[in-house]
This record gives sequence, C-alpha cells and structure tokens, in this order.
Amino acid sequence: MDNVTASEVAGFAVGALLLAATIAAPKVDAFVSASQRRSLRMCARCGDLGVIPCSRCSSGIARLQILGSPNSDNQPCAECGASRRIPCPLCSSRKDV
Ligand SMILES: [Zn+2]
Ligand SMILES: [Zn+2]
Repeated sequence: MDNVTASEVAGFAVGALLLAATIAAPKVDAFVSASQRRSLRMCARCGDLGVIPCSRCSSGIARLQILGSPNSDNQPCAECGASRRIPCPLCSSRKDV
C-alpha cells in the first residue's frame, strides 16, 4: 500500500517538472538568445540591424489584411512614417555616445 503513495509522488514530481519546463521554455529561449547577442557584442534588441519592426504598423497591417481595406495608404504611421520600422532605441543611444 505504501508503494502506491511513492509512485504517486514520483508521478506528480515528473508532471510538475514537465509543466515548469513548458512554461519556462520561451523565457529561457529569449534569455539565451539575448545573452548570446550580448556575448557577440550585438544589439540584444535588434541583432545589430539598427532598426526594429514598428509595433504599431505590424499590428495595423495584420488588422488591415484581415479587413482588406484599401485606405491604408491614406494614414501613414506617425511612429515610423510608413517605413514600417523604427530605429532601434538601444543602437541609437549607443551611437550617440
Ligand atoms: Zn509604424
Ligand atoms: Zn539595436
């Protein structure tokens, strides 16, 4: 009878480990890629591209593609001027110094 309790505990522990690994995986991946870029002296934000995708535009484009609106060009993004990308804040601050 006591053996049932032990295997139950083991099963719970494995289940908890799998759950924790599943939850932590994306965060660990993002952390590792950021630290890799940092070790290569690349920008952790943009990977030394100097620009990052405009978040306002990418969300707007996704919405427009769904709606199929032809009026998208009438409203250039105030954030990036319709270039759909903005200077990386980390790189621009680094260049200013
Ligand atoms: Zn934009
Ligand atoms: Zn950057």
